[in-house]
Amino acid sequence: MNIVLLGPPGAGKGTQARHLVETRGMVQLSTGDMLREAKDSGTSMGRRVAEVMARGELVTDEIVIGLIREKLEEGARGGFIFDGFPRTLSQADALGDLLAAEGQGLDAVIVLEVDDEALVQRIAARATCGTCGAVYNDLTRPIPEDGKCSECGASDFQRRADDTEEALRTRLLEYYKKTSPLIGYYHAKGLLARVDGMGEVDAVQAGIARALDD
Ligand code: ADP
Ligand code: ZN
Repeated sequence: MNIVLLGPPGAGKGTQARHLVETRGMVQLSTGDMLREAKDSGTSMGRRVAEVMARGELVTDEIVIGLIREKLEEGARGGFIFDGFPRTLSQADALGDLLAAEGQGLDAVIVLEVDDEALVQRIAARATCGTCGAVYNDLTRPIPEDGKCSECGASDFQRRADDTEEALRTRLLEYYKKTSPLIGYYHAKGLLARVDGMGEVDAVQAGIARALDD
């Protein structure tokens, strides 16, 4: 099964994708993570995209489609979870073509629905483990008192460069302008399932499971 997780920044796509990886043996393809890795490893592409990302704008379709193409070639027995991709209609078309070339397709597109105010609050409170990528939140899942990640024991917590108020405004605008049209696109293809993303992590997980098992 191949699925897309759609939704605004801070909707919980990454958290939910990690859960699906653990419970269903799926492979998570997060273009955001791939781009941050490229940035950290100091490749020329990484340096080029770093500023664009820090401003909260989208990087070019060509770059992200290239990243996804490479990963698709590796295959995934439990299926792929596309997290943060596609973000534009051309990316969606490209994904359809890439999957079709492998004799595959999408089985579902889950859109996580979260109010804008909640997104702003979540993102302002967010920190990530720099070693394993576990996501913490000052309000709902604070960093353990001993200062060590409960999943891997590391203590290099990071705030993302684009988790500032200004970059977030841009990210939301980019989402509504360029990504939210994908909701109509996938609805027309009969793939869309809407899941309430406002509840606790477990409740959202259950909502996604229901949508996938339907
Ligand atoms: P979030 O969903 O929290 O906004 P991501 O980690 O998915 O964060 O993405 C962070 C940034 O990486 C985006 O704001 C954008 O600059 C870039 N990016 C990620 N995926 C894509 C994509 N599919 N197309 C264009 N830019 C992307
Ligand atoms: Zn960790």
